[in-house]
Amino acid sequence: MATTKKRQWYAEADLSEVEQELATSATGLTQKVAEERLQRDGDNTINRAQGQSQLKVFLMNFVSLMAILLWVSGLIAILSGTLELGIAIWLVNVINGCFSFWQQHQAQKATDSLMAMLPTYTQVYRDGKVQKLDAKDLVVGDVFQLQAGDAVPVDARLMTATSMQVDQSALTGEPVPESKRADYRQGDGEFAESNLIYAGTTVGAGTGTAVAIATGMHTEFGQIAALTQQQGKQNSPLQLELNRLTKQISVIAIGIGLAFFVAAIWFVHYPVAKSFIFALGMIVAFIPEGLLPTVTLSLAHGVQRMAKRHALVKELSSVETLGETTVICSDKTGTLTQNQMTVNHVWLPHQTYTVSGQGYVNNGEIQLNGAPVAYQDDADLARLLRVSTLNNDTRVQLDPKTQQPKLLGTPTEAALMILAEKAGFDVDAETAKTPRLKELPFDSDRKRMTTIHQHDARTLSICVKGSLSDLLPLCPTIQIAGQARPMTDKDRQAINDANQHYAAQGLRSLAVAYRAVPAEADQQAQLDGLTIETAEQQLTFLGLTVMADPPRPEVIEAVQKCHDASIRIIMVTGDSSLTAKSIAVKIGLNTDKVRVVTGTELAAMPDDELKTALKGEILFARVAPEQKYRIVSTLQSLGEIVASTGDGVNDAPALKKADIGVAMGVTGTDVAKDAADMILTDDNFASIVAAIEEGRTVYSNLQKFLLYIFNSNVPEAIPSVLFLFSRGLVPLPLTVMQILTVDLGTDMLPALGLGAERAEPGIMQQPPRAKTAHLLNKHLVWKAFAWYGLLASAVSTGAYFFTNWQAGWPRQALAGSGIGYARATTMTLAAIVFCQIAAAINCRTTVTSLFKFGLFSNKRVWAGIGFEIVLLAVLVYVPVLQPIFNTAPLMLNDWLFLCAIPIPIFLIEEARKWLVRRKTITS
Ligand code: ADP
Ligand code: MG
Repeated sequence: MATTKKRQWYAEADLSEVEQELATSATGLTQKVAEERLQRDGDNTINRAQGQSQLKVFLMNFVSLMAILLWVSGLIAILSGTLELGIAIWLVNVINGCFSFWQQHQAQKATDSLMAMLPTYTQVYRDGKVQKLDAKDLVVGDVFQLQAGDAVPVDARLMTATSMQVDQSALTGEPVPESKRADYRQGDGEFAESNLIYAGTTVGAGTGTAVAIATGMHTEFGQIAALTQQQGKQNSPLQLELNRLTKQISVIAIGIGLAFFVAAIWFVHYPVAKSFIFALGMIVAFIPEGLLPTVTLSLAHGVQRMAKRHALVKELSSVETLGETTVICSDKTGTLTQNQMTVNHVWLPHQTYTVSGQGYVNNGEIQLNGAPVAYQDDADLARLLRVSTLNNDTRVQLDPKTQQPKLLGTPTEAALMILAEKAGFDVDAETAKTPRLKELPFDSDRKRMTTIHQHDARTLSICVKGSLSDLLPLCPTIQIAGQARPMTDKDRQAINDANQHYAAQGLRSLAVAYRAVPAEADQQAQLDGLTIETAEQQLTFLGLTVMADPPRPEVIEAVQKCHDASIRIIMVTGDSSLTAKSIAVKIGLNTDKVRVVTGTELAAMPDDELKTALKGEILFARVAPEQKYRIVSTLQSLGEIVASTGDGVNDAPALKKADIGVAMGVTGTDVAKDAADMILTDDNFASIVAAIEEGRTVYSNLQKFLLYIFNSNVPEAIPSVLFLFSRGLVPLPLTVMQILTVDLGTDMLPALGLGAERAEPGIMQQPPRAKTAHLLNKHLVWKAFAWYGLLASAVSTGAYFFTNWQAGWPRQALAGSGIGYARATTMTLAAIVFCQIAAAINCRTTVTSLFKFGLFSNKRVWAGIGFEIVLLAVLVYVPVLQPIFNTAPLMLNDWLFLCAIPIPIFLIEEARKWLVRRKTITS
């Protein structure tokens, strides 16, 4: 639909003309025609222009501060006469840049494919029946249904619409929702036609049906997307910190390099060019090459592991925020509970029935004192069943293949359908006899839903269901034994008592009411006049349906995990106080002493008081979704990092505001999914906790990685220090090329393996890390430099002197050239590599014994170790490389010595971990 003219035609033409043009009807297409059109027009998907941005992203990897430093270093090396060193540094830079780019690309692909795992569904008429279809299969001419919270999947002409509001800001940038209706009005501005809706927009309120007039790239949104490039991703706080860190370290490296340069001239009287090379070695040794790509890699790994645990993260940066989470604000229904509603009791003013059977199949009956009851037996029961099935958008179908019940709609309403069937009520016949004329859809603010039906030629009936506290005030009358009479205080008392009685058991009750009104001659005018204000009043109370929604079994453990990890959970639910509290206590979330604040109380509560209250044990019940926003932002003002769940349209602001907005993948609306940072594919609270665990793991893996790469810096620097301070008496034990070998060669792969390490036990037994905590902290630096670093330095310089000793030192002077010198430096290099082998293993855990953790469980680390040994052997034994890297073949003795190195280093570290563990247990 590229032209405005064509669009105008679709808006102005009669519906019948539109149907004719698209060869469709009010009952939609046949499956066969739809498949043909899908073949012809292609998927209903939108591909964004990529443009030259990929090239730019690629080139950006070669102009970072670190990359520039390496370019300059290489140039200086070449100018100073060491061509091979210069080329080596440049080569490293190129490899590093390509590797970074490849990692970015992989990470992008990973997050993109996650989104593809989460299809958007649409209710489409095919072969005359409503079916749930993946929106990408929609074709022109398809007739589909829409309701609040849906993303509009295609450009379409409305056929029917009830109080429909559409948010078109994605197209127009205009944040005020537009009213849409089935008849045509030309509004002001673009996309203002009242009866056209557009792909990329969302339904904020109301319901409707529409016929697709354009799909995929032919939609207005597709046209725009084809022109604009995907927005550049913002750097996450972690990436920013790493950028800063890299810069800082680079500056320190240059400082150290300068000091070594001066010292080389001063102490050993090196010529300037040679001193330069010498300094370069130090600079390159200290610059943390490979840091950024590794971070991206570990984040991407984290994202993939989270996906396996049912949490889809949209941006890599959410992974780190998850690790910091201190408070989770969680819904109850479906997240903490199973959302498997079954009506257990029907409470009528004069009679209480129990209901047998479980789930969405008619496998039980309504009973009175153990005897089955049919709906005809009790006029009040019959009316309650009629109202609760008419006021119902759900169908339960048996899947012909699996024989499993398939839900179209919400569990609460499905439970009511099943209840009616258990009493022998013919839902389909009744619905056909009493057609629905209008509806006032459910929203979680008023917590009610109303439908208006043609009862007979002379009467309309208004059917209402909703939460008791919101419905009871609207009922001046009560029905008992087929008769409506004014409600007394005693009636009210009895109803509330019953409600409390059930709520205290964690059951959820839904009140049902109705009103009959005489039909007027002008039906349309009458219906237009029946709004929320006028229809939902003067009602007659019928009774309560009481349903059970058992807690999810895995939630109890997840709640315990949060408590261990010092993460607080605050339940924020639309359900009643007592039900909420009962469930909260059942799953171990709260104690009996929890303070329960209702939405009304919250609205009246000043900010200061809310702040104080939020510091203690608290639970929110009967709140409107909008109030979640206030809870989240107040928690944030207290310095908390907040994860908040949501599913409805009105949850969107809170989801956006939260540090981690969590949307429900199964029951959530498209709007909520859009606003969220993370989507749960199983709606399960336990999955949030799993994601937090992964987030923490990623962070601790990065620290392991840093610890490992900083380890080797000390043994790389000490030989040069030795050389300088002996005024050249000790020939340089490690040459510049050898330093680069460790730093950019052998260290790389094991380090990457550490970035993908699995969670260490106990990671969920620590409090969340402070917002101010730095990745590179004092503790880590000390451990790397003063502990591992010095240990490795002692071993490697030991190896150097050992080789010389074998050659006759100290009777003869230390060799400064020739084969003896090459062998000695080769041993220093090899010893550092073997120390790093031990370090790679040691860094895998912080306190857990590797014997318990699984010595061989990280295949990547071992593959990396294998690689570094092979690389070392190549450098030592390939003749053309020997002069470049100043290496010489090693003897069997040397290899035995080298192979022995990792053992004591590993055992010493195991002993240290044991001591730490013992100390934390006893303290
Ligand atoms: P929660 O916060 O636990 O997810 P909801 O927001 O789903 O709770 O529901 C809040 C209240 O709205 C429920 O306690 C119930 O009384 C009422 N309600 C829920 N679904 C419907 C419906 N389909 N029709 C009428 N009322 C409903
Ligand atoms: Mg809800």
